[in-house]
Amino acid sequence: MELPAQIIVATRNRHKAIEFEHIFGSEVRILTALDVDPDLTWNETGTTFEENARIKIQAVSSKASKSFPGSWILADDSGICVEALGGAPGVHSSSYGGQEGNDRQNTRRLLQDMERIDNRSACFRCCLILKIPHLGESVFYGQCDGSLIREGAGVLGFGYDPIFIPTGHSQTFAELPIAIKNSISHRARAFAALKAWLIQSK
Ligand code: IMP
Repeated sequence: MELPAQIIVATRNRHKAIEFEHIFGSEVRILTALDVDPDLTWNETGTTFEENARIKIQAVSSKASKSFPGSWILADDSGICVEALGGAPGVHSSSYGGQEGNDRQNTRRLLQDMERIDNRSACFRCCLILKIPHLGESVFYGQCDGSLIREGAGVLGFGYDPIFIPTGHSQTFAELPIAIKNSISHRARAFAALKAWLIQSK
């Protein structure tokens, strides 16, 4: 199956939309939830990344079916899971510091929680759900393993990027060139699974 010329990504996060633009390449125009309805919101009450991705898909597709009939919709839910914290922040990654979407507070809280902990193993996880009208929904996962450093480094990316060093590298996601992050990230890996599925579903 070929990718369509346009996909709606069920996110309000500008940084994620930019990453999807890089990952999909110039052939696919990426629209976001803001293009569907600037006031559209949803509550991420799920206990898994998949449940939250479904909440986003439902919120966006019920609106988009009127303004963008037939459009493919993609939802991503992702977060960082720290081994020594039993998988936290996990689905609470975006509000871990107390205020939704405040990257600085989130990172500060995680570094505080990890202050006296030597096991720095962590991973980013991503669940992608692709909804194709009349064909239904398909789910894909991606994971990027790595470790947490003790002090933020780098200015690229977003979220926990300044404190996460992916395995096999010596710099954080916020220091590495964007093209490298977009080739090994949890989102890129989930997308690779999606692409493989599209190729085999003729
Ligand atoms: P979501 O928009 O509900 O999926 O929230 C995901 C949260 O996880 C974001 O707000 C970030 O804090 C974190 N996160 C997800 N992906 C990344 C990434 O690629 N880099 C850094 N942080 C991320």
